[in-house]
Amino acid sequence: MCDFFYTQPVNQLTGIGRSAEETLKKLDIVSMFDLLTHLPIEYQDQTKIASISELILDQPALIIGKIIECHMTQTRKPRLTCLIADRTDQIRLHFFHSYAAQKKQFSLGFYVRCYGIPKLDHQGFIIYHPEYNIHQDKQVLKPQQCFTPVYSSTTGLTQHKLRKWCALALALCDQEMEQTLNLPIEIQKQFNLWPITKAFHYLHNPPATAIVPLTAQHPAKYRLIFDELLAYQLHLNQLKKEYKSKRAPALLHNTWQIEFISTLSFQLTNAQMRVVQEIHQDLLRSTAMLRLLQGDVGSGKTIVAVLAALQCIENGYQAALLAPTELLAEQHYMNCKAWFQALPISINLLTGKLSTANKQACLANIQSGKTQLIIGTHALFQATVKYDDLGLIIIDEQHRFGVNQRRLLLEKAKKGCHQLLMTATPIPRTLAMSLYSHIDLSTIDELPDGRIPIMTSVMPDKHRQDLLSRVQKICLSGQQVYWICSWIDTEDPLHFVQAAELTKQKLSEHFPNLQIGLLHGRLDSSEKHKTMSRFKAGEIHILVATTVIEVGIDVPNASIIIIENADRLGLAQLHQLRGRVGRGSLSSYCILLYQESISHIGIEKLKAMKQFKDGFLIAEKDLTLRGGGDVNGIQQTGNQPFKIANLSRDQVVLPDIVQAADIIDKQYPEYIEPLIDRWSFLNQMNYSHL
Ligand code: ADP
Ligand code: MG
Repeated sequence: MCDFFYTQPVNQLTGIGRSAEETLKKLDIVSMFDLLTHLPIEYQDQTKIASISELILDQPALIIGKIIECHMTQTRKPRLTCLIADRTDQIRLHFFHSYAAQKKQFSLGFYVRCYGIPKLDHQGFIIYHPEYNIHQDKQVLKPQQCFTPVYSSTTGLTQHKLRKWCALALALCDQEMEQTLNLPIEIQKQFNLWPITKAFHYLHNPPATAIVPLTAQHPAKYRLIFDELLAYQLHLNQLKKEYKSKRAPALLHNTWQIEFISTLSFQLTNAQMRVVQEIHQDLLRSTAMLRLLQGDVGSGKTIVAVLAALQCIENGYQAALLAPTELLAEQHYMNCKAWFQALPISINLLTGKLSTANKQACLANIQSGKTQLIIGTHALFQATVKYDDLGLIIIDEQHRFGVNQRRLLLEKAKKGCHQLLMTATPIPRTLAMSLYSHIDLSTIDELPDGRIPIMTSVMPDKHRQDLLSRVQKICLSGQQVYWICSWIDTEDPLHFVQAAELTKQKLSEHFPNLQIGLLHGRLDSSEKHKTMSRFKAGEIHILVATTVIEVGIDVPNASIIIIENADRLGLAQLHQLRGRVGRGSLSSYCILLYQESISHIGIEKLKAMKQFKDGFLIAEKDLTLRGGGDVNGIQQTGNQPFKIANLSRDQVVLPDIVQAADIIDKQYPEYIEPLIDRWSFLNQMNYSHL
């Protein structure tokens, strides 16, 4: 089986030389297949002829007329004006920067077929720079049989050239079709798929009867969506096989866990017990675990991770716990210190803010193996850090890290290593079943007993005054408040800081009797730490913060979170922020403020927050609102993984894709490579979401 044609470079086509090749590269077009999947962004209707008298201002149209007059200015940059007429009326065509040869084309008495947009000047209708053909015989100038494609382009590349090259590629792919059976006949039949060449023809030049734009359900478009998703799925299947063959130490001894659980001040929930078991079983094996632990905010993922770390340490290996912010790393460190008091375990906190002397000591302990549990931020995977013997890597809020960062840490494990990823932003079920099938999932689907559901309300910013009196009451009753600021006009983090500073100042003026704290990313870590401990100790009533507190911070006495410009934040982020309250036994509230300028999507988001408490449902909604781009950080690295498919729109196709990929894996393995190869961008993708 060979798919040679599709992966051939475009320079095989007549007219594509070195410089055209470079230009096409700017559009990510390198291979024939790239060119053929460079689908029109819109179509021109040149299938019907309009009479000149019917033309409407600004509405593109195709007309045919006889050339009555034509003259060119004698200036340095000559302009050409030509008057044409049909049976109904006359109209002028106008060309700036004309040339003698062009004037020659417009011979009086000849006919011109032209397509353009009628404009109005002081003399009436005029068309500037129409596309045109000229012929002596009117009969030759028929309307087009098909819609005319319009492609996205770049400087130096005309539509004319792109159309010509696409047409050449289409003609070639017809010839090559016999050799490039691109999907097994069985698959085409079972899933009702058009031959790919038919799809390409239709998409580039839809017949006059087509209804454009073509929808994703149209068999032509569907054929390519299917192809792309199938290639992606087959690629993930390969990755899965690769992961499954990786080695890691089997962690067989396990007496500490049981003892440790009995010392906890709370009972693990059934869901926690279940996932602890799932992880435990994985760690007994000598193949590497790759498991994603998903559980809503506050569901108690940390203790589950700590139990896994215990099993690792008991077997003589080091465990590393990676967190996205210093605050969170510190919090994990404090918790672990308290939890492990009675156990002979040495823990170190490694962040970028350590003094040089402390850092040296810390690094030495990590390298010698004296430190058994290493907790930290990005510092954990820097080149200077050498581990004695890593057995388990735990990544909290995994969507905040790129795959390369995870790989850096993984490479520090000499004998291979188990991985536990944690997230409060679950993968929507539809995606989990297909695209993420290479990762094992553990889900904590229940909250610890005694949690009272958080009441969410949505409020226009102009009602702020009422809100302030409520805040006052709450604070005087001894409870605490988070006040989250974001800035509307810009994404610049500095503006967030300014917004927070301003809010703090205003609140301080408004509540002279209350303590207001301020937390943002620009403060140095000792200051952050101090503010956070004062808030934890109840010395601060209102903590004004930017979204730095998004992840993981735990203060059970805080019962209200107010989020300004909430509609500007992502749903997953809002859900995370809301999870900062409702951590104790108090009734808790999340108040989402919005400005009058709120967008349609913004309203949908806030509605969803009010309606859904469950992180899973929110993730599903997020997927629909965002069009599937940001599931676990695909977009964070600026990668939209698909050229034609769209996960949100095309979710319904996924079960078929899984089935088709299965059949190909088992019965037609020779199709896999060509399929993945022709979607060449897959090779360059950054799988940050894996
Ligand atoms: P998350 O899943 O959001 O990371 P945490 O691990 O931070 O949640 O847990 C939230 C809080 O709940 C912590 O204070 C933790 O000690 C506590 N917690 C965890 N498990 C239980 C449980 N089974 N019963 C009561 N409290 C628990
Ligand atoms: Mg957490």
